[in-house]
Amino acid sequence: MTTKELMALDQQYVLGTYGRNPIAISHGKGATVYDEEGNEYIDFTSGIGVSSVGYGNEKWAKAIYDQALKIGHMSNLYYTEPCAKLAEQLCTRTGMSAVFFGNSGAEANEGIIKLARKYSFDKYGEGRSTIITMKDSFHGRTITTLNATGQDMFHQYFFPFTEGFMYVKANDFSELAMTADDTVCAVMMELVQGEGGVNVLDKEYVKTVAEYCKKNDWLLLIDEVQTGVGRTGTLFAFQDYDIEPDGVSFAKGIAGGLPMGGFLVSEKARGALGPGTHGSTFGGNPIAASAALEVLSELDDQLLLEVREKGNYIAAAIHNMRSGNIKAIKGKGLMIGLELIGADAGQISQALAARGLLTLTAHGNVLRFLPPLVITIEEIDKGLAILQSLLGD
Ligand SMILES: *Cc1c(COP(=O)(O)O)cnc(C)c1O
Repeated sequence: MTTKELMALDQQYVLGTYGRNPIAISHGKGATVYDEEGNEYIDFTSGIGVSSVGYGNEKWAKAIYDQALKIGHMSNLYYTEPCAKLAEQLCTRTGMSAVFFGNSGAEANEGIIKLARKYSFDKYGEGRSTIITMKDSFHGRTITTLNATGQDMFHQYFFPFTEGFMYVKANDFSELAMTADDTVCAVMMELVQGEGGVNVLDKEYVKTVAEYCKKNDWLLLIDEVQTGVGRTGTLFAFQDYDIEPDGVSFAKGIAGGLPMGGFLVSEKARGALGPGTHGSTFGGNPIAASAALEVLSELDDQLLLEVREKGNYIAAAIHNMRSGNIKAIKGKGLMIGLELIGADAGQISQALAARGLLTLTAHGNVLRFLPPLVITIEEIDKGLAILQSLLGD
């Protein structure tokens, strides 16, 4: 099918909730993708931080194929090996106590919200259910996670939202201490705000909040849907923050492109969600879990080191472009934001795509890069040359 035909078919039958680019992606290899006409694009998106181990990854494809032939699905009323092994990997590599598997980021965040409210209810009874979240955060698109999201533009149309959220400015502990009251049961935050502009939270702030949570017996919930699974250069971003969270949600990159999400819980909190309190039909699906096991085996110390190095390499190269349109370079590992000035990030992203570089945007006129973690220096250089051709002086 040509791109033109495909666009017409899609626009007729797919609900128009997305502003799609006029490009139809057909296949890919590593961090390079090709459209229906065979044009090449360097991918600085991984979907949206999903295809962590690259496109056309043969070991990943084989893990999926082999498991699909054995058994593609079984209900959570029975045990399956990939699920148990994946849970073991996630816990031993993070120091967390147990894991729940679902299918998406929003669902994972719903899970840690339930965890916090149930933990508090069991211990203190009703009336302690508020969760403090950060301004400029993004936590998902369900009725609950929209309201957990600390951006007013998401609090429209779909009333009534789930109550029980308070918003505070990130990196400002006094605002949190002043806002909190005796209805609070948890604080939830991203350590690098993704959709909100690629804003890195200060280590000292996060540690202070973590201590305050402990003191008040609030659960510390970290949304690692975007930062998790190697994106920032450690398996989970919290591992570089010297904190002990009670709930850590993940999704996007975990299964390298298959839908999977979930959350890790601390020893202290795991008892809150016992039999019958939570569930998911597809959660822990053996094909998705096999794909995730392959992703985790590729994400060894060497690859995590390379994520940090490649992130520094990209940031240094962009710094050297000395573009008058780049106000700031933000981020951690391969989660990178360019705050633009005198140019619209959305328009720049479209112009880059037309020249063969796929990018994302974020709140605050930010051009956002989330390349596959396995992107090569050669692919990075090709992408940077395209960026230079548009933004360089
Ligand atoms: C993408 C994202 C979500 C939502 O994930 P879905 O899989 O789209 O539901 C939640 N939190 C953060 C930080 C995200 O980046």
